[in-house]
Amino acid sequence: MTYIENQIKSLSRLYPEQKQFIAAVTEVISTLGPVFEEKPQYINNRILERLTEPERQIQFKVCYTDDDGNIKINRGYRVQFNSAIGPYKGGLRFHPSVNIDIIKFLGFEQIFKNALTGLPIGGAKGGADFDPKGKSDREIMAFCQSFMTELYRHIGPNTDVPAGDIGVGAREIGYLFGQYKKIKNAYEGSITGKDINFGGSLVRKESTGYGLIYFTNEMLKQNDSSIKDKKVCISGSGNVAIYAAEKAEMMGAKVLTMSDSNGFIYDRNGIDLKIIKKIKEVDRDRILKYIDFNKDAQYKEGKFYWDIPCDIALPCATQNELDKICAQNLINNGVIAVAEGANMPSTAEAVDLFLKNNVLFGPAKAANAGGVAVSAIEMSQNSIRRSMSFQEVDQILKSIMTNIFNKISLSSSKYGYGKNYLAGANIEGFIKVADAMIAQGVN
Ligand code: NDP
Repeated sequence: MTYIENQIKSLSRLYPEQKQFIAAVTEVISTLGPVFEEKPQYINNRILERLTEPERQIQFKVCYTDDDGNIKINRGYRVQFNSAIGPYKGGLRFHPSVNIDIIKFLGFEQIFKNALTGLPIGGAKGGADFDPKGKSDREIMAFCQSFMTELYRHIGPNTDVPAGDIGVGAREIGYLFGQYKKIKNAYEGSITGKDINFGGSLVRKESTGYGLIYFTNEMLKQNDSSIKDKKVCISGSGNVAIYAAEKAEMMGAKVLTMSDSNGFIYDRNGIDLKIIKKIKEVDRDRILKYIDFNKDAQYKEGKFYWDIPCDIALPCATQNELDKICAQNLINNGVIAVAEGANMPSTAEAVDLFLKNNVLFGPAKAANAGGVAVSAIEMSQNSIRRSMSFQEVDQILKSIMTNIFNKISLSSSKYGYGKNYLAGANIEGFIKVADAMIAQGVN
């Protein structure tokens, strides 16, 4: 049995119930064979065994009272996975599906994503099995305050700097930051995604979506194409999806679909983002409402099967949303490129199908790294107490996304993977972190 197979087997024995975490580890390490052949020091230093075990894992109780005076109890998590190249960094997710398996899978992926940005940030993830949907502002505030009352002792600007993710947007970040500041009596960059009035960065809101489009365009350019005049299907209608759609439209593409967990809309004339922003960012309502404003559009209840013909597919909702049936639908309809805005939205079988059918595939850890990159820029601005302009940050974001694409494309061809950019991203991120771990000794 090889070093890699051995490690997958041993993790499956240790954590048999952590299916998503094991899938994420398998996806990354099964592409590292040529790296171990070239650099056996990674095997001698037992890097896989050390890298797949979080440095610290915290689970805590979060209690609050709802508007009717009932006491509610949730579980909170923070997994500080790896700090070889910088303080822990990664989002907080509030969603009923959150458990230790999901947080470990996301934290593991975050290590490599953060390394790819070229910025000094380690990997972490956290969250709670709390559902913000249908809660009042007061209930959200009470939950966030209770969550931070425990989390504050584990984070800080030089230790661990959380950010948002599913269910944690500007409102939640504000409440979390306010509670941290009160307890610590310190106004410091302990969390990113803050409002621009109190230490946030311009472009943070747009960064993951814009970055996804910059990355996709680079991938297309290297393959003699571009995003201009392309038909794009997007899933989700949250932070990532909205700003991916906005930048795609700015660069001359037409966005045909968006979705939420209830259903999806198809607008063959191109989605009107003013309507989407009103429904999602102002009214916090369901995407079904879109057809009240635009009678030409269609709404379909249930899962989105990616069966609307398009050139580019951007899954931006959640993990495992794009399975092999969806992948086959996209391939049958002639898709050229798929780039992941969400974290691991494509199943392993879907990715295999894309690669076998020469569909350009931009993996999440590279394609959606724009969010964490601008978070790190927010950290720098907080440290030096300076605010950069929109253009300045956007320009840095663009050059980071271009660099990421160039680096992973070089690595994938150097190690014999051709245009398999997923392998290139895994290798590029892994080497950077592994070398830092070896340099820092066994601890
Ligand atoms: P939001 O909460 O803003 O939006 C999530 C969107 O996905 C909503 O439209 C939501 O619909 C939909 N969705 C969530 N769960 C499901 C589901 N089970 N089935 C179908 N649709 C679903 O989250 P973000 O936009 O911030 O995050 C989206 C993805 O991008 C996540 O995978 C996240 O980890 C990843 N990501 C986010 C970054 C960021 O900067 N925000 C950075 C890097 C990655 P509904 O409202 O009905 O739940």
